[in-house]
Amino acid sequence: MQSDSSALLDGSDSISSETTAQCPGGPVIAILGSGDFARSLAVRLVASGFRVAVGSRNPSRICGGLFPDWVEVLSQREAVDRAEQVVFVALYPEHYHTMAGLEDGVAGKVLVDVSNAAVQNIRGRSNAERLAELFPRSKVVKGFNVISAWALQAGAHDGNRQVLICSDCSDSKAAVVQLARRLGFMPVDLGGLRAAGEIEEAPLRLFPSWDGPVLVTFLLFFFFYGYNFVRGILLPYLDHGKNNFYQLPLVAVNDTLPAVALVTLSLVYLPGVMAAVLQLGRGTKYRRFPCWLDRWLCSRKQLGLLSFLCAGLHAVYSVCLSLRQAASYRLLNAAYRQVKAGVENSWVEEQVWRSDLYLSSGILGLGVLALLAITSLPSVGDALSWREFTFVQSSLGYAALTLSVMHTLFFGWDFAFFPGAYPYYLPPLYLLALILPCTALVGRVLLALPCLASSLAKIRRGWERRHVSTRDHGSSEHV
Ligand code: NAP
Repeated sequence: MQSDSSALLDGSDSISSETTAQCPGGPVIAILGSGDFARSLAVRLVASGFRVAVGSRNPSRICGGLFPDWVEVLSQREAVDRAEQVVFVALYPEHYHTMAGLEDGVAGKVLVDVSNAAVQNIRGRSNAERLAELFPRSKVVKGFNVISAWALQAGAHDGNRQVLICSDCSDSKAAVVQLARRLGFMPVDLGGLRAAGEIEEAPLRLFPSWDGPVLVTFLLFFFFYGYNFVRGILLPYLDHGKNNFYQLPLVAVNDTLPAVALVTLSLVYLPGVMAAVLQLGRGTKYRRFPCWLDRWLCSRKQLGLLSFLCAGLHAVYSVCLSLRQAASYRLLNAAYRQVKAGVENSWVEEQVWRSDLYLSSGILGLGVLALLAITSLPSVGDALSWREFTFVQSSLGYAALTLSVMHTLFFGWDFAFFPGAYPYYLPPLYLLALILPCTALVGRVLLALPCLASSLAKIRRGWERRHVSTRDHGSSEHV
């Protein structure tokens, strides 16, 4: 059976937003407060066919044109009286006291609390729970706070579409869920009002899933840059006064970026190999992975995108290397030395092949990485079947890793076999950068051996080795 509130919001379903934008005829919804959020919400509600009554402490102060023509600007008391079922509270929590005296007007109605938390990790009651205590005869629903005033006004096609909703009253929650859908958003039911604290803090979080991957990428950058600095700039200067400091802004950064890109790309594929080894060793997929591996598996998309960023920057830097002044000086000096030495043709076939091969594999690797990055966008990924998505992310991903390793190997050519490549007993940067990618590739090749691949496939279909008894259902789905 449908609740009163849901039925009420259903009443105008047949009215298209095109026609109702001119003449709303749906139920009246009240908004308390006349600030930015109230204005944007009023615009969106009117466009979706609702009539809107805005309740202000001082309606006469609100100048004409601030709200759409169809919106009534009234006192708080008049607005809640006009509301048929739903009243939005678009006030800061510290101003809830201005609603004192409205208790009778909002009794039995749905109060939608749209406020955000002021700071993160506050223990104690949420704003919505405080509102529910202030108005015990109303049904408080938390929602819409994750949508900014801008996104409300711009429309649901241009911004975040998810609206997190919770309430202890299921009928009222259902009504607000339906209302969110009619406004063009994607409601997500998070259960009872106890979840309100989490919802209120959601807009304050800054890229919550990116902190680990960004930190890893920065640490790798500082490690490789520092290594490069000590090996190629500092030690030659201290040893024989060679001044390579001009390399700091461009050459050293361009040496560092591909190493970071390669290692972060390998970090996308290593946890999958580790998870497979664990499952093979345990003979089951029903035991949880260690927490660190779980977190690592969940960070693969971010690591892949950061790898793409570094690879893209490396491509731009490499193109720019030949444009800088130092390159033209070096070219002229080399030409002069060649003329002085009487060399007419400096063509070295092997070096021509080397540079063409490493450029070609690098360009192809970057292209495949770009494809992976594009398919990781939700709008593109959603259009693919699970089979297509895993093909792109896994098979093409390994192709990108292989091409990047080839790019590095062609770059290094046979130089690593000469003692001159190890000044101060320090190996070249690209050799260090190859360790993890080669480990991931070798691991993948070994797992593809028929004896291991068939056992793994059986385990992933639910088969367990006989002596495995404890079932601790773990997160093996996303390996
Ligand atoms: P705002 O522009 O400052 O508006 C707040 C409104 O509260 C004022 O226009 C005022 O309307 C009313 N009010 C009541 N008592 C007040 C008092 N003592 N002092 C000052 N104003 C008082 O704020 P807002 O951006 O619309 O935000 C309103 C709520 O929405 C907040 O809880 C916020 O966390 C939430 N929110 C905002 C956004 C956003 O993008 N702006 C996004 C998500 C959630 P009257 O003078 O007409 O009474």
